[in-house]
Amino acid sequence: MSETALDAAFFVRWMTAAAAVIDREADRLTELDSPIGDADHGRNMQRGFAAVVKVLADEPPATPGAVLVAAGRQLISSVGGASGPLYGTLLRRAGKALGEAPQVSAQELRSALGTGVDAVAQLGTSAPGDKTMLDALVPGVAALETSFGAAAGAAEEGALATVPMQARKGRASYLGARSIGHQDPGATSSALLFAALADVAE
Ligand code: ADP
Ligand code: MG
Repeated sequence: MSETALDAAFFVRWMTAAAAVIDREADRLTELDSPIGDADHGRNMQRGFAAVVKVLADEPPATPGAVLVAAGRQLISSVGGASGPLYGTLLRRAGKALGEAPQVSAQELRSALGTGVDAVAQLGTSAPGDKTMLDALVPGVAALETSFGAAAGAAEEGALATVPMQARKGRASYLGARSIGHQDPGATSSALLFAALADVAE
């Protein structure tokens, strides 16, 4: 993993790139949320990340931790669906774990995201294998040990691996065995967050 120091501007670029890829992929995320949900995941994420970009532009935070805390807060307050509080918790808790350092290493980011993912699992009472965002987040964070590109690949594989799973959490779980054969929308958007991270880290 590279030793590059990541500053607040890097984290703003990450959130901005995430908003852009979510905007491009919003229709696909909503389509994935149609057979096993309520067809709002793309719109939820689009609304949330547009609000994140706006708050970061209006009041640019001075540290990496403050960027993630501000982004997480904004997701919690602007997204109504289950994914808003879950993604909001991920970023807010990761941001708090980074503390007030003006720059952080990739390893510190990995560790902070690990703390955020644990908080998501606790809030969602969910675990890998339940066919949720955790199925992309957990392998993505683990592969950050290697590189940002490896993390993006592992998260994408994790999202694809949700297809044969039966959902045990969230709306999709109401469908029981009928949730099998569909890719989880939240795992798919999580993979997009790692793709955006790999893009800005290049
Ligand atoms: P809603 O389900 O309220 O319509 P979204 O459609 O925006 O919210 O988000 C759905 C996604 O949220 C799912 O695809 C799944 O990845 C994630 N999710 C739902 N419940 C949980 C949970 N308990 N733990 C982890 N992730 C969850
Ligand atoms: Mg939904």
